[in-house]
Amino acid sequence: MHIEYLPMRWKSGDNYCYILSDDETKKSWLIDPAYPSEISSYLLNQNKTDVVAIVNTHHHYDHAGGNGELLRSLYPGVDVIAGKDSPHVNRIPKDGEILELGKNIKIKAIHTPCHTQDSICYYAEDQKTGQKGVFTGDTLFISGCGRFFEGDGAQMKAAFEKLLELPEDTKVYPGHEYTRSNVKFSKIVLGAKNEALNNLEEYCSKHEVTTGVFTIGDEKRFNPFARLFDPEVQRSTQETDPVKVMDKLRSMKNNL
Ligand SMILES: [Zn+2]
Repeated sequence: MHIEYLPMRWKSGDNYCYILSDDETKKSWLIDPAYPSEISSYLLNQNKTDVVAIVNTHHHYDHAGGNGELLRSLYPGVDVIAGKDSPHVNRIPKDGEILELGKNIKIKAIHTPCHTQDSICYYAEDQKTGQKGVFTGDTLFISGCGRFFEGDGAQMKAAFEKLLELPEDTKVYPGHEYTRSNVKFSKIVLGAKNEALNNLEEYCSKHEVTTGVFTIGDEKRFNPFARLFDPEVQRSTQETDPVKVMDKLRSMKNNL
């Protein structure tokens, strides 16, 4: 499987659109293509890519706002796979449902309500090469977590638990490039001795793009929202109940 990232609204929203493609058939999903004007010239030059679905991680405009235009212009008649609140959605996968792409890719839809109630993460596995990746939208960011716009700490804790159950070598593809700012917060909460976090900070000082580089295993080590039982996190939040730790972390990040 091949995963291409296309930056959109760079330096303002730092959004990512992704093209997930099956190697053999070139059949592809276009994930969160919110700004067609920024990516259409690239897509038009990809004559080998056969887009079979537009896919959204959630209904926010900076993820789902391109669906109508892409259906009208480049991809009439393709499926729109998303949660219930996305424009033009015609296929709403159930939690845990397995979808197929091309010959070798199987994708599991993982419902993760909290940032929005219709948030879905997509875990893709190539049955032939063993490659694994998860598209986490605005639920899990590299060393961070989305805002709780339509949910609460209990829901985000449940969402993270589902994602952290995935194989450790699953690469993480979030909806935004927020890693640099997340690292600043994570340092405050996790302290200076977390080696994985120090390595991430070092990586960020040399690279602008961090998507598709780090894994679920890494998140368990350097993401405070994935470490609700870490004594450092509990000390920083002054809480021990994991739901309260989650809520406190998010409000501390909001007020940073
Ligand atoms: Zn969002």
